[in-house]
Amino acid sequence: MAELPEAPTPTLTAIYADYETRQGDGFRDHLGASIIGKSCARALWYDFRWITPARHSGRLLRLFETGQLEEDRVVRNLRATGATVLEVDPETGRQFRVEAHGGHFGGSLDGVALGLLEAPKTWHVLEFKTHSVKSFNELVAKGVVLAKPQHAAQMQIYMHLTGITRALYVAVCKDTDALHIERIEADHAMAERLLEKAGRIIFAQHPPARISEDPAWFECRFCDHHATCHDGGGVAVTCRSCLHATPVGALPEEVDTGSSSGSAASKDVGGWHCARHDRMLGPAEQRAACGRHLFIPDLIPGEVIDAGDDVVTYRMADGSTWTNDARSPEAAPC
Ligand code: SF4
Ligand code: SF4
Repeated sequence: MAELPEAPTPTLTAIYADYETRQGDGFRDHLGASIIGKSCARALWYDFRWITPARHSGRLLRLFETGQLEEDRVVRNLRATGATVLEVDPETGRQFRVEAHGGHFGGSLDGVALGLLEAPKTWHVLEFKTHSVKSFNELVAKGVVLAKPQHAAQMQIYMHLTGITRALYVAVCKDTDALHIERIEADHAMAERLLEKAGRIIFAQHPPARISEDPAWFECRFCDHHATCHDGGGVAVTCRSCLHATPVGALPEEVDTGSSSGSAASKDVGGWHCARHDRMLGPAEQRAACGRHLFIPDLIPGEVIDAGDDVVTYRMADGSTWTNDARSPEAAPC
């Protein structure tokens, strides 16, 4: 008989529960440079449109934290070689950040460094990652570009948007603590292609094609959006899944940004516009949605057979009809 796993102690359960309660709502305001190298554009569109909130177990969240904690140690290691390492931008006191497409796309650097032994006069973007032993061995054998194209894409974006021409990739093996270090050269053509890809995803009103029509395809099996993508339904109700919402680029001066703080938001960034209420929406409003929410028809596994003000009717795959009705009197404009 197989051995039963040990029952979790109350303390262990409480530790994991603490991570789970602190993980937020699973929605990221922008499309992250760290994921733009994902092979499925549809998955990225779903991420950006908050179709399925990212939820993780306490154990996994603690593992992510291990990766973050490792960053301080790698910085210390680099400084011990004589390098100058900046983890924050001296002008802002915050992490170096890059943005594009009106702030809908962006990411934060682990740091920048000068005085590296390989090229002491050249500033480098720093990217630190932890790996399982299997992933680490593949990385050592093939290099980051082939073994971890998503990480390579992230560094290309960071170099392109900061104007820094080199990146230093530092990988840590979680099982053995071995380090792997690689220098990457900027490839602006590749970065431009990635930026174009980000723009196509951000401003698309419809989901891009699937990477595979087979639900058992290996990338689909591990995808957070598998159920929505291959079966339909199960979509989170937020403004980003509403057919009235559109991401816009840089805003004209006179636009009401919908900032919940009431203060004028920066006009050189984009935002989300609601055509139903003809106004911009702040992040909190996008999360809450309003009673006039209507699903983007591509997210419903059926065919639109009728539509009117605040109502859309579908013929579903099994022949039944379903009406997405937002006409109720309590559907107050936000
Ligand atoms: S389930 Fe597959 S096709 Fe659908 S979004 Fe995920 S990876 Fe892409
Ligand atoms: S405010 Fe309401 S109608 Fe407008 S995008 Fe959000 S959910 Fe849709």
